[in-house]
Amino acid sequence: MSLARLGCGLAACLVALASMAAEPLSEAALAEARALRQRALADDTAYELIRSLTTEVGPRLAGSAGDARSVAWAVAQLEALGFANVRAEPVTVPRWIRGDARAEIVAPWPQALAVAALGGSVATPADGIEAEVVSVASLDDLKAQPRERIAGRIVFFTARMDRSRDGSGYSRVVPPRSSGAAEAATLGAVAMVMRPAGTSASRTPHTGAQRYSTGVPPIPAFALSNPDADLLQQQLASGQPVRLRVTSTSRWDGEAQSANVIGEIPGHNLKDEVILLGAHLDSWDLGTGAHDDATGVGIVTAAARLIAESTRRPKRTIRVVLFANEEFGLSGAEAYAARYHGAIEQHVLGLESDLGAFRPYGFTARVAPDKLPLVSTIQSVVEPLGIPYFGTEANGGADVGQLRPLGVPVMDVITDAAPYFDLHHTANDTFDKVDPELVRLNVAAFVAIAYLAAEADGGFGRLPVTSKPNP
Ligand SMILES: [Zn+2]
Repeated sequence: MSLARLGCGLAACLVALASMAAEPLSEAALAEARALRQRALADDTAYELIRSLTTEVGPRLAGSAGDARSVAWAVAQLEALGFANVRAEPVTVPRWIRGDARAEIVAPWPQALAVAALGGSVATPADGIEAEVVSVASLDDLKAQPRERIAGRIVFFTARMDRSRDGSGYSRVVPPRSSGAAEAATLGAVAMVMRPAGTSASRTPHTGAQRYSTGVPPIPAFALSNPDADLLQQQLASGQPVRLRVTSTSRWDGEAQSANVIGEIPGHNLKDEVILLGAHLDSWDLGTGAHDDATGVGIVTAAARLIAESTRRPKRTIRVVLFANEEFGLSGAEAYAARYHGAIEQHVLGLESDLGAFRPYGFTARVAPDKLPLVSTIQSVVEPLGIPYFGTEANGGADVGQLRPLGVPVMDVITDAAPYFDLHHTANDTFDKVDPELVRLNVAAFVAIAYLAAEADGGFGRLPVTSKPNP
C-alpha cells in the first residue's frame, strides 16, 4: 500500500504506523472481545454445566466415589464441548471418610446440637467424649489460658465471622479451624468445637480442613452452626458448668487417585503460550458444591467454549484446568505446578473462578508494571458489565495463585463474598442458590479478559519469582 493511499505524508505516516505497532491489541480484537461479552450474556452453557455437575455427580470430596465420577464427568463434558487435548492428569489425594457426628449438651439443659466433623478429624471412642466446655475467643486467647483450665475439657472457639462483600472475615476465623484442635490438644483438651467459619443463620454447620501437629495427640474437631453456637453460649452465660457429649466415626483411609482435568482451545499462531482458566472440580461433601466450585467449573469452561466458537481465534491457547482436591490440601495445584515447572514461562496469565457465581464488583490485575496500560485497555471492555478496576492486588485464587510465586501474572474478577459465605462448605451449597443471570455476567467478564489476554502482543511480563514448586 502506498503512502498516498494511506492519506498521510511520510513523517505523519511513520508516526501513525509506529503508534499502531505499539498497541498490543488491535481494534478488531477489541471488537471481538465486546461481541463475545455480549454473546456470554445470552448463553447458558455455564448454568447447564453447573446443573449437570451438581445433579449428576453431586458431592465430590477428594478420594470419594463422587470425586472419581466428577473426573469422568469433566472429561466427557470437555470432549462433548469440542475442547482439544482433553486429558485427566493423575493427582494423588488424601482420603478421609466423614462418618457420622453428633453433639449434645448434657447439662445444665440437655439439647442436641447441629454439628459436623472438620475435615481430617479423628473419631471419638464409640460412646463419645463427654466433658465440660471451656470457651475461648481465639487462638491467642487459648494460648494465654493456664493448662489446668483447658486440660480434660472440650474447647469451644466462639469467634463469629463478620459478613462482608470482600469476605475478609473468613481469614480471621480460619486459624482456629485449621489449628484450633492441635493447639487445644497441646494444653490437654479432649475435643474441640467451634462456631462455624461461615455466616449462615441456618442450622447448617460449616466444614473445612483442619490439621494436627506432629507430636501432639489428635483430638476430634467439630464445627457447630451459628444458631447452635449461640445456644451453647447462652447456656455458658448462665454461669453453670456446661457439659457436652460429642461422637464421631470419622476416619482416614490412606490415599486415592484423582486427576486435574484439562482441555484446550488451541491458539492460532502462539499456541505454546497459555492463558490458564482455573476452577476446582472437588467439593466438600455436605452440599453439592454448587457455588464451591461447580460455578467456577461452569464459568471457565463456558468462557473458553465461547472463544472456541469465535471465527476470530486468538493467538494464544486457552487452557481450562479443573483442579483436583483444592479443599483438602491443594493437591491438584501442587501437582500442576510440579508437572509444568519446565513450561512455566509459557503461562502468560492465570485467572480463576472460586468465589461463587455472585455479582462481580471489581477487577484486579497483578502484572509487570510496564503492562498496566494493557490492563486498562482490557478493563475498558469489562467496565460496561459494571465491574470497575480495583488495583493490582490480584492473588489468582487458591489454585491458580500457586503459579504466582513462580512468576505467572494473574487477574481476579472479584465477586460479592457476602452471600458466598452463607453457603460455603455447608449443606446449603446447592444448585437452587445459583442465579443464571449472575452466572452469565461472570462468564461475560471471563470471556472478555481471556480473549484479550490470549490476543495481546507482548503478554503481561513476569512477576518476581519467590518460590519453586515441590519436585
Ligand atoms: Zn472453592
